Amino acid sequence: MNANEPKQNLLRQLPGVDRLFETVAASESCAHLPKSVLLKAIRTVLDSRRNAVLEASDAELPQIPTLDSLAAEVAEKASTIGAFNIKQVVNATGVVVHTNLGRSCLDTEAIAHITMVAEHYSNLEFDLSKGRRGSRYSAVEGLICEISGAEAATVVNNCAGAVLLCLDTLARNRSVILSRGEMVEIGGSFRIPDVMAKSGATLKEVGTTNRTHLADYENAISTDTGLLLKVHTSNFSIVGFTTSVSLSELVSLGRKFDLPVMEDLGSGSFVDFNRYGLYSEPTVQASVAAGVDVVSFSGDKLLGGPQAGLIVGKKTIIDAIKSNPLTRALRIDKLTLAALEATLSLYRDPEQAIRQIPTLRMITTGKQEVEGHARKLKSKLEALDKPGLSLTLVDLASKAGGGSLPLLEIPSCCIGVQMDDISANTIEKALRRHQPPVIGRIENDTFIIDPRTLTEGDDDIIVSAFAQLSAKNR
Ligand SMILES: *Cc1c(COP(=O)(O)O)cnc(C)c1O
Repeated sequence: MNANEPKQNLLRQLPGVDRLFETVAASESCAHLPKSVLLKAIRTVLDSRRNAVLEASDAELPQIPTLDSLAAEVAEKASTIGAFNIKQVVNATGVVVHTNLGRSCLDTEAIAHITMVAEHYSNLEFDLSKGRRGSRYSAVEGLICEISGAEAATVVNNCAGAVLLCLDTLARNRSVILSRGEMVEIGGSFRIPDVMAKSGATLKEVGTTNRTHLADYENAISTDTGLLLKVHTSNFSIVGFTTSVSLSELVSLGRKFDLPVMEDLGSGSFVDFNRYGLYSEPTVQASVAAGVDVVSFSGDKLLGGPQAGLIVGKKTIIDAIKSNPLTRALRIDKLTLAALEATLSLYRDPEQAIRQIPTLRMITTGKQEVEGHARKLKSKLEALDKPGLSLTLVDLASKAGGGSLPLLEIPSCCIGVQMDDISANTIEKALRRHQPPVIGRIENDTFIIDPRTLTEGDDDIIVSAFAQLSAKNR
């Protein structure tokens, strides 16, 4: 007898693709799915069953499930294959501008404006008063100038692109003077020296990591200098024996030598968080008022809008930037432009901006309010009556995130979750695999939920995730 015969017999019990397809396609849960998805799911399920048989030891040969249970397996597989890859998640981390989780959530007016532009034709590049081609940037330029106090403005698809474009326009084949204390790397492969190299500018580092003086810049100026650059050290802070040159000192130096001065603000806020009792981030308005020639900042960090790179400054410089062919390659799309316009228009009334823009609202929510939310959510979780589940309120800090306000610890009140027979790591994993996923953090072997970053409907999702949590998740 052939040694493989028992395995071959088992494999013969597996239905063929066609037979399984007929069964699955007739089922209610799969009737609406495309044939390609069903076939992919069928092949995956059959392959895995076949491999299970081939890899099993002769003593422990697996059973082949019935046709109906294979069909159910296929249906489940097909629903994951057919599902979108980008999905809603619950941000329970307390990191407001969480780059991995999509940075800023948009306000409802911005969402409505995106929908309008997506659904209909629009005057994106059409001047309705003149009846001819217009500029796509005109929708937001005026607003950006109005809010920031700048003479001129433009936008590209993100701040990294904005920096590249500014350097390429102002300093290609020339040198750019930058303090060694500001040679930053922003998470996810954006390093100032690398962007500089890509733009064709040469980096001229001055000073030291902790101390740079005005004379360091001045001594480095030569005939090939194209730009004086200041980069906001947005995701770290050097403390102790430090000196850096202020933006206005750098602006005076630029004037003296007739050199443009640029500041890459990165997080770029229009709101002074000092007024809300929080450690403050330099505002765009302050940089403009200091007389800097050009400033770049992100749309989806502290601005609370869509991914975009905003550039504001002197008209001659912005005009030069606009006529650089790179601008076309970095151009912002219409959906983003709509979201940006709607978000910016909220800043016309700063109080309204704080109330309505989710990122600003989350950062400025007081601890008491977060505590009220935490208590409510805690009692909903207690009502599940889950054996071994212990819930406590803990005073911890939230973070602004997104490489902004690095020192800011926003006082928060979180829910600490522990379970008798399930570790914090297992809780974290199970919630992350829930649909929709719930993302929290672990501190001292406790799973932490920070209500600061929860949005409408998230409480119910968290409660249902915990209701389904059991030791089998291990
Ligand atoms: C975040 C940041 C950038 C990059 O901005 P993106 O919008 O993510 O491209 C550039 N410079 C600084 C200082 C930053 O903080």
